This record gives sequence, structure tokens and C-alpha cells, in this order.
Amino acid sequence: MAYFERVAVVGAGTMGNGIAQTFAQHGSQVTLIDIDAKSLEKGLANIRASLDKFASKGTITKDDADAAFGRVFGKGTLAEAQHCQLVVEAVVEREDVKAKVFGELDRVTDASCILATNTSSISITKIAATTKRPGNVIGMHFMNPVPLMKLVEVIRGQETSDATTKTVVECSSALGKTPVEANDYPGFVSNRVLMPMINEAVYCLMEGVSTREGIDTVMKLGMNHPMGPLALADLIGLDVCLDILNVLHDGLGDPKYRPCPLLKRMVAAGRLGRKSKKGFYDY
Ligand code: NAD
Repeated sequence: MAYFERVAVVGAGTMGNGIAQTFAQHGSQVTLIDIDAKSLEKGLANIRASLDKFASKGTITKDDADAAFGRVFGKGTLAEAQHCQLVVEAVVEREDVKAKVFGELDRVTDASCILATNTSSISITKIAATTKRPGNVIGMHFMNPVPLMKLVEVIRGQETSDATTKTVVECSSALGKTPVEANDYPGFVSNRVLMPMINEAVYCLMEGVSTREGIDTVMKLGMNHPMGPLALADLIGLDVCLDILNVLHDGLGDPKYRPCPLLKRMVAAGRLGRKSKKGFYDY
């Protein structure tokens, strides 16, 4: 049985479609909302392809894959979240956009609905302050690719209630994930540690310390990382990495977080990693 019967996921991009798939595979009816029709279509197609891949590998049956896909409903407006018990927001990593989304979700959903954000770095406390229910607002930080990655970083804002935290921790476990609680400081644990490493790898590339393959190979073979930092940045999205570094830089005020000029230049050129088929590598 699903932990929540009705869940909405806002944003059908890299993270949103994976989050929607994961809830659907665990029995929830999922409303997947994106303002951009093309992104919604692509998100639904990604879910179908991922479920089919699991079925072809024998991880799940074809019937389970079909049933899970049948529980995902693509929509175009936030009003469609109105009867949900949990909303997970996964729109672009911009505070103004998230504030607008949370303001509207606060108006359209029941007062008891939990509003979670998948933000990588923006303050949960600030996002919560755009609503009239800061006790019900929490960070639910899934990792990419969501259907495979075990961690959910559960981030309490200043006003997040114990009851909301307990529910989201239990819900994450019911999804087969391992929840880890963190407090609300820029980047939480995951990106506070990961992004400086990725940024330093980009500096190494910019300064010619080694090639992209050389840098990634050092970290894979020398540090036993499953993938190199430049390939990982391509997977995350270079625009997402830049946004997170800006939040760390602004929020902690320490120059050690300043984004590498090469990273900025690549984002300006539209080289965003896998999603644009070009990043540090070509796809
Ligand atoms: P993405 O760019 O792939 O997708 C964002 C989606 O949100 C797009 O489809 C866009 O059309 C949609 N959107 C934008 N504004 C909207 C609105 N007002 N209403 C509805 N939909 C809207 O981004 P992503 O990589 O999936 O990241 C989403 C969030 O997840 C960000 O906060 C990011 O920091 C976080 N995150 C990303 C990763 C990663 O590896 N990419 C990992 C963990 C967390």
C-alpha cells in the first residue's frame, strides 16, 4: 500500500520525472505538473523508458511497469495539486521561481498537505516563509537518478514541525530509500561537500592541470569514485551546478565557493551536460 495515496510532483525535468516514477512504483497516484508542455511530454517519455528498462532487466514485471505508468498523470497547472497529501517541488533552482510556486501551492492545496522541495541548496526556511504553513514545509532532497539512488536528504527548516519531519522520514523509507536528516544551511551536507570538489575539477581543467579524462580517471581510480567529477557535473547539469555554487557563495560568503569562470562560460554557451547533449563530454 502507498504511504500517500495522492502525490503531486512539480517540474517534470531530470529530477521531477524520476521522483514521480518512484512514487508511482510504490503505489501512489502521481500528478506530474510542468508549465512547459514539451518538458512534460519528455518527462513522461523518460518515465516510460525507465520503467521499460527495469522490466527488460527483470527488476520489475511488465505488468508492474504498466501499472506504475498508469498511475502518473501529466498536467499543466499547479491547481491540479489541490487534493494531494504531499507535493514535491522540483522546478529550476531559482529562489524567485520556487517562491512563486510555493505561494501558489499554499493557496491551492489543503492546509494539511505537506509541501516538500527537492532544492539542492536554497534555504528551506526562506521557501517556507512564502507560505502560511511553514511547519508543513520541508526539504526532500532526492539524488539523481532518483529510481536508483538510495539517499534522501531530509532538511528541516527553522519552523518545520517534528510531525512533518517524522512523516517525510517514514515516507522516504517506504519508498525504499535511506533518509538522512540535515539542518538548513546552504548546500546542506551533500552539495556543501560535492560542489567544491566539482568546481575544483573545473579549475584543474581550465588551468590545464590535466585533461577531462585525466581528471576523471584520477578520481575514479585513485579515490574509488564510481564516476569522475566532470562526468558527474554533466549528469547533474552544469547550470544546476552553477546555481548551487552561487547559493553557497552568497549564503556562506566565503570566496572558496566562487564558481570557476570556465563553468560560467560553458553554461553561457548552452553546454549544460547530458540534457543538452554537450558538456565536458559529448553525448
Ligand atoms: P530541470 O531543468 O531538468 O527541470 C526543471 C523543470 O521545471 C523543467 O521541466 C521546467 O519546465 C519546469 N518548471 C520551471 N518552472 C516551473 C513552474 N513554475 N511550474 C512548473 N514547472 C516548472 O531541473 P532538475 O535538474 O530536474 O532540477 C530540479 C530541482 O532539483 C532543482 O531545485 C535542483 O537543484 C534539484 N536537484 C537536481 C539534481 C540533479 O542532479 N539535476 C539533484 C538533486 C536535486
